[in-house]
Amino acid sequence: MELQSPEATRIMVAVNESSMKGYPHPSISSRTAFEWTVSKLVRSNVAEFRLLFLHVQVPDEDAFEDMDSIYASPEDFRHMKERERIRGLHLLEYFVGRSHQYGIPCEAWIKKGDPKEIICSEVKRVQPDLLVVGSRGLGPFQRVFVGTVSEFCAKHVECPVITIKRKPDETPADPVDD
Ligand code: AMP
Repeated sequence: MELQSPEATRIMVAVNESSMKGYPHPSISSRTAFEWTVSKLVRSNVAEFRLLFLHVQVPDEDAFEDMDSIYASPEDFRHMKERERIRGLHLLEYFVGRSHQYGIPCEAWIKKGDPKEIICSEVKRVQPDLLVVGSRGLGPFQRVFVGTVSEFCAKHVECPVITIKRKPDETPADPVDD
């Protein structure tokens, strides 16, 4: 059988912000997943791959973190939403910038909602060849109480999934942090 010259392999990489270092850093797990994808899958075959970065913003996440904020007018909410949008854009700018440094073609977009549900619905819509997610490697207790995006996706998406754990020396003291 002769192999046809293949189209670019489309890899969706689900990326999120760090819960620790704040604006606008990527999480350790999603940065590790990206770096693994580049160094172990893409390597120097940059023209044969296309990276599709998906970030899901959880609505109002920040409103609860920042307990000192007082919202008194519709303007305040508009500012907060704008700030949230800009944070998402900075995150994607990081990954798009890194891809360009390596010369790997890419696309990036933001959706809103529950990350695990949205990642699955975007896989259905976009039909990548492969989904790459990071993983905090949470234990059974934390999996129940904190929830894990990577496990849910591995179970429910309709394409092959690769889950990349953080390196032991990059894992924070509290593994829930990322
Ligand atoms: P887990 O530790 O199992 O919850 O998985 C963490 C990984 O899930 C991250 O490295 C990302 O790949 C993905 N993930 C988590 N939250 C989001 C989000 N808001 N948007 C996109 N991907 C996410």
